[in-house]
Amino acid sequence: DLILFWHRRDLRISDNIGLATAYQQTQKIVGVFCLDPTILNGDAIAPARVTYMIGCLEKLQEHYQKIGSQLLIIKGEPSQVIPNLAETLQAQAVFFNLDVEPYAKERDKKVTQILQGKGIKYRNFWDQLLHAPNDILTQSNKVYTIYTPFWKNWSQQKKASPTPKIEKLQGLNEQELELASKVGTINLPTAKDLGFIWENPLLLEPGEQAALERLELFIDQAINEYQEQRNYPSVDGTSQLSAALKFGAIGIRTVWQATSDVYENSRSDEVRNSVKAWQQELAWREFYQHCMYFFPELAKGAYRKEFKEFPWENNDEHFQAWCEGKTGYPIVDAAMRQMNEIGWMHNRCRMIVASFLTKDLIINWQLGEKYFMQKLFDGDLSANNGGWQWSASSGMDPKPLRIFNPASQAQKFDPEGEYIRQWLPELRSLDTEELVTGKISPLERHRCNYPDPIVDHNEQQREFKRRYQQIKQNV
Ligand code: FAD
Repeated sequence: DLILFWHRRDLRISDNIGLATAYQQTQKIVGVFCLDPTILNGDAIAPARVTYMIGCLEKLQEHYQKIGSQLLIIKGEPSQVIPNLAETLQAQAVFFNLDVEPYAKERDKKVTQILQGKGIKYRNFWDQLLHAPNDILTQSNKVYTIYTPFWKNWSQQKKASPTPKIEKLQGLNEQELELASKVGTINLPTAKDLGFIWENPLLLEPGEQAALERLELFIDQAINEYQEQRNYPSVDGTSQLSAALKFGAIGIRTVWQATSDVYENSRSDEVRNSVKAWQQELAWREFYQHCMYFFPELAKGAYRKEFKEFPWENNDEHFQAWCEGKTGYPIVDAAMRQMNEIGWMHNRCRMIVASFLTKDLIINWQLGEKYFMQKLFDGDLSANNGGWQWSASSGMDPKPLRIFNPASQAQKFDPEGEYIRQWLPELRSLDTEELVTGKISPLERHRCNYPDPIVDHNEQQREFKRRYQQIKQNV
């Protein structure tokens, strides 16, 4: 009795709740991944992310083979190809792990309806979160819209352990494989075959093994000083596990267990506080996913009413300069070049450039949100939208307007200008003071072939506030 296991953003075998539950019923399990044209042809896709994803699929295929089964690849509209494949293989059931995104919820509804129509069973599970959306609610059973009370509740709940290891599966025989290929299974294409060119090395190698090794390295070293070091973009002070968490190349319970072991085994306050600080980031990830699950309208626009009709300036030249890292503000440009070059940006810098786009250039945050999705190898709807709405002050965060001053950010978090020098080679020869304050003479700028500032921070900040006050009176 075959179970077809549909992988989506859980590209691993270990610590996978849906797969482990299937394994309790049978060894005859075959994996499938659907290359969905709606996602691949959409305009919020990044070559770096597709490259990482395809790499993960390659590793997952190898893992399936090693333990005696297969990961099938199929291309097409999921509600057609998944039920078709299940029917053709006479699978007794299709299992999969749930997702919070509006598109995924809609897709899964369609798929399960068609499965039902064909009389094929299905089961689904929460796997990518330590706590499912409905498990963390206020005392009066309401959804949290503020992070701090969410964290208090979330951190006190007992967390599940990683699921038992899967040693051996039974896959399809030759005949069944032949049947599968008749309904459209294909060899795994490369990212290039799909039209995505990404030549640079990825910050994290694809696959489960690389993610586990990265976790181990982080747990051995950087986590101990995370609280202090995570703010400095020139330091490798964070885990860089975001893409692995996005695609589920690593199980969240495995990650949690590793961090709580460090916490339990340490007597140093510094270490314990650092572990807590990191766990809080994992909770932000879950907070934003819960928000997306309960308020799918977040994906479409601002949460706060003041920002629904905000009079953005949306100057196209300014937007292009921001995208290319040519605003004339060194910390902003360094950050944008980092993302354009490696498909990842340090969190501190994500906040700086997002504040700059929305508060200094007065450009709609949704343009920035989309550009990030077109570049980031860890691009994730919930985290990205949450980060952007936080920076734009359009989201759930109750704090008044946050405006970052690029120069003071650089002075504080890149005091030696190392990060700026790394990503803006044309400015390497300048004094640190000039780099971090951005006070570079027009002559120097010209000599370095570096642009003049496209706007004036103080002026724009006043202008933004003026527009905000005006709209606030009208809504
Ligand atoms: P670590 O510091 O090691 O954190 C551990 C993990 O916690 C991360 O891998 C991530 O899964 C999660 N996490 C950390 N910070 C946040 C956060 N603020 N919100 C949600 N989850 C968090 N993160 C994404 O994964 N994908 C995105 O598309 C994304 N877009 C962002 C856009 C903006 C404007 C901002 C301000 C933040 C965004 N973040 C996003 C959050 C954060 O910047 C990245 O998760 C982090 O930089 C990834 O590096 P890391 O794995 O070394 O993080």
